[in-house]
Amino acid sequence: MHSYYPAPWRGIEGNFESMPKKIKVNPTKHNFNARILIADDEPRARASLKEILRFSGYETTLAESGSEAIELLTSSSFDLILLDLNMPDLHGHKVMEHIDHYSIDCDIIVVSGETTFDHATQALRKGAQDFLRKPYAPDELLRSVSNVLERRQLKAENQAINLRLSESEALHKFIVNNSPDMIYLLDQEGNFAFINDRIETLLGYNRNEIIGQHFSKLIHTEDIERANFTFNERRTGDRATRSTELRLSSKNSSGPRYFESRAVPIELSSIGIYTMNNDNKKAFIGTYGVARDITERKQAEELIKYQLYHDLLTNLPNRSLFRDRLNMAMAQSKRSGKKLAIMYLDMDRFKIINDSLGHYVGDELLKLVGQRLRSELREADTLARVGGDEFNLLIPEINDIQDARNLAEKILRLTTTPFIIKNEEIFISFSIGISIYPSDGDTKDTLIKNADIAMYKIKNTGKNGYAFFSQKMKTHFSQSLDIENGLRKAISTNELCLYYQPQYNIKNGEMVGVEALVRWQHPEKGTIQPNEFISVAEESGLIIPLGEWVLRKACIDIKRWMEMEGISLSLSVNISMQQLEMDQFVAKTLKIIKRHALPKNTLELEITEHAIMQDMEKAVDALTRLSDKGIRIAIDDFGTGYSSLGYLQTLPINTLKIDRSFVQSIKSSDGNSIIDAIIAMGKGLNLDLIAEGVENQTQINHLTEAGCGLAQGFFYSHPIPENELLKLIRSSAHSTSEPPTQNNQFRDEGSPVP
Ligand code: C2E
Ligand code: CA
Ligand code: CA
Repeated sequence: MHSYYPAPWRGIEGNFESMPKKIKVNPTKHNFNARILIADDEPRARASLKEILRFSGYETTLAESGSEAIELLTSSSFDLILLDLNMPDLHGHKVMEHIDHYSIDCDIIVVSGETTFDHATQALRKGAQDFLRKPYAPDELLRSVSNVLERRQLKAENQAINLRLSESEALHKFIVNNSPDMIYLLDQEGNFAFINDRIETLLGYNRNEIIGQHFSKLIHTEDIERANFTFNERRTGDRATRSTELRLSSKNSSGPRYFESRAVPIELSSIGIYTMNNDNKKAFIGTYGVARDITERKQAEELIKYQLYHDLLTNLPNRSLFRDRLNMAMAQSKRSGKKLAIMYLDMDRFKIINDSLGHYVGDELLKLVGQRLRSELREADTLARVGGDEFNLLIPEINDIQDARNLAEKILRLTTTPFIIKNEEIFISFSIGISIYPSDGDTKDTLIKNADIAMYKIKNTGKNGYAFFSQKMKTHFSQSLDIENGLRKAISTNELCLYYQPQYNIKNGEMVGVEALVRWQHPEKGTIQPNEFISVAEESGLIIPLGEWVLRKACIDIKRWMEMEGISLSLSVNISMQQLEMDQFVAKTLKIIKRHALPKNTLELEITEHAIMQDMEKAVDALTRLSDKGIRIAIDDFGTGYSSLGYLQTLPINTLKIDRSFVQSIKSSDGNSIIDAIIAMGKGLNLDLIAEGVENQTQINHLTEAGCGLAQGFFYSHPIPENELLKLIRSSAHSTSEPPTQNNQFRDEGSPVP
């Protein structure tokens, strides 16, 4: 193939104008500046090679010997060496061996006078790209150079492309495998053709376990149908991708603990892959898409949902969830014809526990109570916390109201064991109201309200018990509500007034004091007696402002009378437990006394045994502080409360007021053992004794005999308004020679129990 330049050509180096245009290689085609080394010991040969190449735009470097060529190849880099073989110091083959040995990246064209075939093949074997015999035709040389360089460049580009390809493949692989999402490819049958590494961290599978498996292997059993629908849809329609929420199941057995039977919620995108058939029809060949772990989002959603429907302190359902469940239960009960029961549970005296032991204990108590109740209920029952210390219980199916009765009794029994918080035993009880569907209402509001009404009934009649709703209760309740609303107004519009019932020294018949008894002058209903509104005031908390009003008004009145009439009277004022429980009560009472300059021992606070028992500790504390400041304490309705009399020793009591019922049981002057025993005991404790509700002379006689010093009742006077009382005071002042001041002297003889 090689053509030869005619010999004369050798002499005309430099004249290359005749070079056929068609083979004139434009070196700019090589987008690199080829560095070419010419190694020839013959100066003319070097010069002519240089010239020919320069003419074609190549830059060259010259080496005069084999060793210089090696030096240059070592010190700088070349793309191509035009190498002579026969060089005196070092044969061209040695140079080639050097190039090979040191893996020098340089192409070789041998340009040699050696003409044997042997030399040529040897040269080519040693790595030469071409072999040109001297003399050569310049166009042949140029073509050869151009070819070699072009190949070289192609090779370089190829390498660069391959490098870039493998780099980008690595990058894609990196991106795919480090994606926070699972990337998958399903074949036509729904088997995994590809899945990225994410599956390992997400579900605990190795990729290889999944490749070739059907997608259903990963889908949570309950979601298989939805998954089928999603993937089949890709097969039939070409709707735009829509994301589906599914749950995947983790590898259970051998996976890391984390994965054990965990259902991973994911949001899945799936895109059908289609190809054109021979008949130009679209054919489904698979699905690809991305599955994103949405556990966190789901958890957040669930938390929000949970928070919406639960009480976060006790983790019990809240009012909303209770109402939902009640709705469902009512519908169910309508179908089955069975009854259902709801209970309104209100913890007794929780406020006291909370106030005295602190909110932490209060909270803990609610949690423990919730847990204890919950653990004793059936799965189908719903126990909800619907307010501070209020719980609602739904029993979705009862055969008979006896079932509800049994459960209420069980709950009450459960509270007999104390709760232990911070090493303290806390006893609680519940007031429970029960309503039954359908007999007590056909809407959930009515049922809940009626259970609440029944609960109130228990609350006001001793607590710690249960009651079934009745229509009678409802009437009573709505009346109470009317009273409450009216009373609220009455306090601010001055509809309240005080009546006073005088108290007498039985022996000499002198008035020694008065008891203030509140009346409500209703603009329409006339005078309302306290037994119609005091309990409502207590339930609603209105007793606090009402009691304060009574105390202030009574102190003002008594002070005025004492000054006006020059008398000394004691003043008894009734106090409810709520008032005593109020932190400010002692301070407020003392302030009132000071403000109106009431003499010591004038004011006597009456509190029932029953009230004191509600919170003995608080009562002892408050009463002691009051007593220390010269305020007398009387136990009202004495004898009707708890049988335990131990409290009499711990309280700073001055007076026992013997309950009207004992006085009324006096029929003759003998055989009244109870009242006699009470009087004896009071005397033994060195307390003043006053009999209430004295209505006749027989009672007076007996009381005198038994040693009771004081009395009040219709026998002497009904409770009367101020003007009548003043008349009475004035008339008795005329009828008795003794100064009224001495009356009080009698009362002062009783001294507080140490
Ligand atoms: P209480 O403290 O036991 O008051 C005595 C009640 O007995 C008074 O009823 C009085 O009218 C009545 N009474 C007096 N003498 C006789 C009698 O000879 N025979 C009969 N059958 N009854 C007699 P009242 O005024 O209706 O008060 C009823 C209750 O209301 C009081 O019982 C007291 O617990 C409460 N109350 C009245 N005023 C107040 C008050 O300002 N604050 C508080 N917390 N409670 C009050
Ligand atoms: Ca009283
Ligand atoms: Ca009384």
